[in-house]
Amino acid sequence: MTETAITKSEKTTTALGEQMYSLMTELFPICRSITGDGVRQTLDIIKKDIPLSIHKVPSGTKVFDWEVPKEWNINEAYIRNSRGEKLVDFANSNLHVLNYSTPVDRSITLSDLKEHLYTLPEHPDWIPYRTSYYKEDWGFCMTHTQFQKLTDDVYDVHIDSSLEDGHLTYGEYYIAGELPDEVLISTRVCHPSMCNDNLSGICISTYLAKELRRKKLRYSYRFLFIPGTIGAITWLYVNEAKVKNIKHGLVVSLLGDAGGFTYKRSRQGNAEIDQIVEAVLKTKDTSYKILNFSPYGDDERQFCSPGFNLPVGSIMRTPFGEYPEYHTSADNLDLVTPVALDASMQMLHDVINMLETNKKYVNINPKCELHLGKRGLYNMVGGEWAGRDYQLSLLWVLNFSDGNHSLLDISKESGINFESISKAASKLFEHKLLIEIGHDS
Ligand code: ZN
Repeated sequence: MTETAITKSEKTTTALGEQMYSLMTELFPICRSITGDGVRQTLDIIKKDIPLSIHKVPSGTKVFDWEVPKEWNINEAYIRNSRGEKLVDFANSNLHVLNYSTPVDRSITLSDLKEHLYTLPEHPDWIPYRTSYYKEDWGFCMTHTQFQKLTDDVYDVHIDSSLEDGHLTYGEYYIAGELPDEVLISTRVCHPSMCNDNLSGICISTYLAKELRRKKLRYSYRFLFIPGTIGAITWLYVNEAKVKNIKHGLVVSLLGDAGGFTYKRSRQGNAEIDQIVEAVLKTKDTSYKILNFSPYGDDERQFCSPGFNLPVGSIMRTPFGEYPEYHTSADNLDLVTPVALDASMQMLHDVINMLETNKKYVNINPKCELHLGKRGLYNMVGGEWAGRDYQLSLLWVLNFSDGNHSLLDISKESGINFESISKAASKLFEHKLLIEIGHDS
């Protein structure tokens, strides 16, 4: 597990963290899956905050090597003993049912029932989260404590679910910026009652979109709220023509726990988004981890498949599988804190600010140094940035603004922080000493 970046004792929080946490609390009880009413209810709630377009793709649609599955819905499920007592009940936790279980209604002996039960002996009071999307099966997940109480009896197992032709539903929100070039922000909406996985990504994406829509933006932003794997495959299949506009992207997930940040690079490895996230994480006081791309994990697997190879990285705190509560009932409202959500949001803001301002310029007077003093740019005593960094930033920006170096490149080359470099560039631009390039379109 990554080192703890946020201590549990940390009391301070912000209004934004609380708002995201309150959206999480509203979404928590819903039984989501890769298709079905739970996804639609979730998207309808997000729609109260941002004007999401909701898209439906019919079951049976071929999407690359896959097929949109039948739609799954569930009303109730339980295991009842011969005395009529319900021992496990979906009404108490939607994790109790193997997600995508086929309907079942029959009596069964304990030994036959055991074939369909899932527990976590190492955490006897937690319910595991298990799915069977692509193999028709049924099952129950329960605490190991509940399991140990099962006696030799004949049980009634009842799962009132349906697996029928319907749709895969996803939400999409596009914010038009000055450029057609897009930043993709993708998050999953397929997990039932768990918080860090997926709800932290949903809440952060929603509030980020809500905030960005009020801003004047250079890039356009596309937010996707999609079911895991099949949702990304379906979106890419249906929207292949739009993919060329995606210049940067992030899969956001697992951003509400107390761990330090983890960034998984895009398959390209040194894309602008990779450099920017790393540069932002470096400015934070907390520990962080950078991972190289691997074809295992979240939906970056699809965005970074070789036929697309998009510059899409994955930002999270503790990676999946590395915190004990992962995919269990303990990934709940106690695991996630408003403070962690807020700090994650701040980090994403910083990433977007850097993306928006990481331009390339050309110095229009490249022969010898400019006479900065004459232009009031040298040693502005009492001026805004009349410090050594500022003076040096002016020189670095002028020298390296040859159309090939971005401001981040200049910041790295000079060792001066991005903010100073960016401020110096704005000042020089204001004085009409630089022209901006890099607008591909
Ligand atoms: Zn998951």
